[in-house]
Amino acid sequence: MSRIEVLEERCKGCLLCAQACPKGVIAQSERINQHGYKVVEAAAEKKEECIGCAFCALVCPDVAIHVYRTPKNVKEEETGHAG
Ligand code: SF4
Ligand code: SF4
Repeated sequence: MSRIEVLEERCKGCLLCAQACPKGVIAQSERINQHGYKVVEAAAEKKEECIGCAFCALVCPDVAIHVYRTPKNVKEEETGHAG
């Protein structure tokens, strides 16, 4: 299963990633980071639908998302921005 990791202290809650996700995986959470922004998360009921396309990571202006893609029979690899 592919998945994303949100680096919450980098996120400014602009929701560009949510708009870019073709699977509707990303949603605003109730958490507020130390900069006062409401951060995004992979919604619990949708996160298993992540296809690892990395569109979210590509559009994020703050490099706040890492994408871990899990191709069939291949070890997990990182495809999104590296920290
Ligand atoms: S695009 Fe980046 S900064 Fe904007 S909400 Fe998504 S993770 Fe946060
Ligand atoms: S990698 Fe693709 S499917 Fe997964 S959360 Fe990001 S945009 Fe959505």
